Amino acid sequence: MSTRSASHLITTAAALAVLVGCTSTKSSDTGGSTLDLVEPGKLKTCTHLPYEPFQSRKGNTVVGFDVDLVDLVAKDLKVKQEIVDTPFEGIQTGEDLNTRKCDLAAAGMTITPVREENLDFTDPYFDATQALLVKKGAPYHSMADLKGKKLGIQQGTTGETYAKKHATGVTTVEFEDVTLLLTALKTGQVDAAINDNGVLFEYVKKNPDTAVATEFQTGERYGIGVRTGNDKLRKEINKVLKKSRADGTYDRIYKKWFPTAPKK
Ligand code: GLN
Repeated sequence: MSTRSASHLITTAAALAVLVGCTSTKSSDTGGSTLDLVEPGKLKTCTHLPYEPFQSRKGNTVVGFDVDLVDLVAKDLKVKQEIVDTPFEGIQTGEDLNTRKCDLAAAGMTITPVREENLDFTDPYFDATQALLVKKGAPYHSMADLKGKKLGIQQGTTGETYAKKHATGVTTVEFEDVTLLLTALKTGQVDAAINDNGVLFEYVKKNPDTAVATEFQTGERYGIGVRTGNDKLRKEINKVLKKSRADGTYDRIYKKWFPTAPKK
């Protein structure tokens, strides 16, 4: 190697060192500096509204169980959570995380092997099953009762997966979000609707003309999604989740949104 190219190499290395130095000094002003956040000072959460009680609009803000949990992470990082409302499909395929639309996805999202190929999940933070919503007094208590009837499903969800597998002889009707699905049940477009139990029990509280006919023991667990390989953020979230379970914060948040205490 000539002396000239060697000195050029050193210059480049020195310039790089300066650049790296600058970046870290700059972002350390804003919290979460080592995490390569999409926007400095913010923790951007992708979700699909509404999914009450996990996330829903209240006036100008978004509130819910997931929102409160992610706020704990934001607080720990000394940044502010910002919610990005986006279709569930982009969330569950990992696309929104890969294109850096947000840092994490918190959307009442079940950890599944297929999704795990496209994004990384934190430790589970909530147990769920699928459930069947009907009009109060309707004679449907199982999938078998729905033979020849219409079952509403929400696209891209684990409810859809369950229905495709178990709703033999039942006509399934797809809806893009849970609001359209629940309205379809109310207006009689479908005879029953399948979705996560937490969401359906919340709906029944406010809509006493509907009832949860049964739950299917799918043994689902929700996880927060991060970009594949973003171990720093995943570990940070896990650390905060663990601490919140140990110091009672998780239980307090759980009781705020659900009538029963969490399973231990
Ligand atoms: N838990 C379900 C799933 O992960 C539904 C999530 C949702 O609709 N936000 O597919």
